[in-house]
Amino acid sequence: MRFVSTKEQSPDLSVSEAMLMGAAPDGGLYIPQSFPQFTASDFTDPGDLTGIAKTLLAPFFEDDTLAPELADICEQVFNFPAPLIALDDKHYALELFHGPTAAFKDFGARFLAAAMDRMASTDTPLTVLVATSGDTGGAVGCAFANARAAKVVILYPKGRVSPFQERQLTCWPDSVTSLRVDGDFDDCQALVKAAFADKTLKTRHGLSSANSINIGRLLPQMVYYAASAVQIFRDTGAPANYVIPTGNLGNGMACLWARACGLPIGNVVLAQNANRALTDYFGGKAFAPAASIPTIANAMDVGNPSNFERFKTSLDALNHDLHAISVDDETIAAQISHDARKADHIWCPHSAIAAYAYDQLGLVEKNKPWILVATAHPFKFKEIVEPLIPGEVEPSPALAAIENLSMQVIDIPAELAALAEVLAG
Ligand SMILES: *Cc1c(COP(=O)(O)O)cnc(C)c1O
Repeated sequence: MRFVSTKEQSPDLSVSEAMLMGAAPDGGLYIPQSFPQFTASDFTDPGDLTGIAKTLLAPFFEDDTLAPELADICEQVFNFPAPLIALDDKHYALELFHGPTAAFKDFGARFLAAAMDRMASTDTPLTVLVATSGDTGGAVGCAFANARAAKVVILYPKGRVSPFQERQLTCWPDSVTSLRVDGDFDDCQALVKAAFADKTLKTRHGLSSANSINIGRLLPQMVYYAASAVQIFRDTGAPANYVIPTGNLGNGMACLWARACGLPIGNVVLAQNANRALTDYFGGKAFAPAASIPTIANAMDVGNPSNFERFKTSLDALNHDLHAISVDDETIAAQISHDARKADHIWCPHSAIAAYAYDQLGLVEKNKPWILVATAHPFKFKEIVEPLIPGEVEPSPALAAIENLSMQVIDIPAELAALAEVLAG
């Protein structure tokens, strides 16, 4: 399989080359040249994420140097479950937070780390730069914490992440450097883009990305959509419909790609916080990226969803049965409060947006199987969640372990020179 740039001005690459490149040299993002076609019967056991990953990802790795390693990578990465939890007889939560940092980003980050660590060597330095609005950096830091050769530099916006997120961004060993940037997430993202555009920096440090623009993050995220859709199709004979909390549109894109690969997926609703660029677009307006607005679902505080670039180049394959909804902070808070009391279900603020969007569906829609994607464990946002619910939020075992690690962080202004200085060591 070849991967092509959305801007069509760069040579096509194999999957591991595209992973190392991050964004394409022409400023575009890599997309697969075609979507391999599957049917539900290609997958024998929907409960076996590792097996599904091997089958689903094989065509994307065909003819790549990592092809012989794919099975191993899948074994290493998909070693925790993505359970479908019944909310009632037709509706489920897909819990994507059973990994080591308790958010769905563990899947993509661990896959990319496992792949990249197999590509790096002493002759080939590899430094992953990652801008994060909260969860990505923690997942990437954790995923690379035991890397042999690769290094990671995490940039996060000062004062815009929760205390626990901050701990999770700064608690990893020396292979991981954490930078607290005086700016917002878009500033962090702009710094990373500027570093990549600087040819000297890029070659000297072997700069590579791990944001959701990296193809190595997106591909493995298709796996839990394939697994859950196949499960629902087996049980009901109908396609599964999804509500997905959306920021940079990485998780949503993975679902749309899984659907384009023939998996039994029906409607997709992208659930946004007050950053409503996609909601406005699907409401019929022109796509208008904006500065990000801080919300209580801060991992989705994205004014300019980077994966829209991928979406707009594959409109024919992707743009059908697709909707978006934008929700303000009061609505998120009310949903968390309501569901904790009425349904004994505690959502993180991001997942609560999906829960709200689901509740708004009409009766006809509600008669179909719907999956509400739960992107993070509520404990990660307990400062927001606990005042809204009776009682406390208990950490998952993995999160409890992180609470005891110490923090290391460097403060920098939102300037390329400051980042270059850190990279120089
Ligand atoms: C990153 C994140 C999102 C948004 O995912 P995108 O791929 O950026 O759309 C939603 N929820 C949580 C908890 C996240 O960490």
